[in-house]
Amino acid sequence: KAKEQGRNCFEFFTSGLHEQATARSKLENALHKALKNNEFTVYFQPIVSHDKKTVGCEALLRWHSDELGAVSPAQFIPVCEELGLIIPIGEWVLREACREAASWCRCYGDGFFVTVNMSSVQFIRQDIETLVKTVLQESQLLPQCLTLEITETLLADNSSNTLQQLQALRAIGVGLAIDDFGTGYSSLSYLKRFPLSKLKIDREFIKDLPDDLEDCAMVSAIISMASNLHLKVIAEGVETSAQRAFLTALNCDYIQGFLYSKPLPAALFDQYIKAFIAQQQT
Ligand code: C2E
Ligand code: MG
Ligand code: MG
Ligand code: MG
Repeated sequence: KAKEQGRNCFEFFTSGLHEQATARSKLENALHKALKNNEFTVYFQPIVSHDKKTVGCEALLRWHSDELGAVSPAQFIPVCEELGLIIPIGEWVLREACREAASWCRCYGDGFFVTVNMSSVQFIRQDIETLVKTVLQESQLLPQCLTLEITETLLADNSSNTLQQLQALRAIGVGLAIDDFGTGYSSLSYLKRFPLSKLKIDREFIKDLPDDLEDCAMVSAIISMASNLHLKVIAEGVETSAQRAFLTALNCDYIQGFLYSKPLPAALFDQYIKAFIAQQQT
């Protein structure tokens, strides 16, 4: 509740046009300094398999600005994209995520994976294949332990050489997940045309399970279609055991959400995964 209020304060005090412009330029100025001032951190949220094993995590960027306090990625990522700052920030997130995941793979085994959110802007403006190869080399993370999360926006963009870039990434063994599935310019043909390995069902379809019969029908259809296309399915934003029971009955591969854990700082995720491994061994 406090978090919600904190987020709304920003909007609340910026109702006028002039105030909005001032707030926006404050945000831009703060963002320009944020990377250099070490204001970013990466959090990790567990991804849990059908048989309740923690098998991976999603890397999620957090920003605590000296001037503005905590700002949500939903608010600052689009601004970073407009300013081009998503290129250095995105690189930094990828490095951090791979470095941490490499240490978790050493204790967990190579079945562990980390997923990293990629902006379409990164694909359009950067050679992602070279970046990924470099970062994998530096971190010694195996390619199969990394999955990049991409969005429907990228797949809808025919102008770039997206398909070749994605094929090159799959060829080196990196996984590709379509994030927020069902919320963008969904076209089912993307699932066939692009070399995807995972599909993440957006929380929008999960939140009213199992009461909303239309959502039940949608989720059930998405899971069976994905499974026939050999895509692993991750349900996002799972908060209740009733949602989990519904998803498990449909053979949903992975579950991610507050039901298991909120996103955690690396040190806490490290404790979480080690406690999980210890419990497996007894
Ligand atoms: P996303 O990739 O779809 O990430 C899932 C969001 O759902 C995260 O929000 C996560 O904290 C939240 N979440 C997870 N489980 C639950 C749950 O059970 N209930 C609810 N209500 N929420 C849950 P977060 O961390 O605020 O990130 C928001 C979005 O910002 C992300 O959505 C992603 O699109 C973007 N983002 C975050 N980190 C990065 C990044 O490093 N790079 C890029 N390009 N985008 C990022
Ligand atoms: Mg994501
Ligand atoms: Mg998502
Ligand atoms: Mg989302």
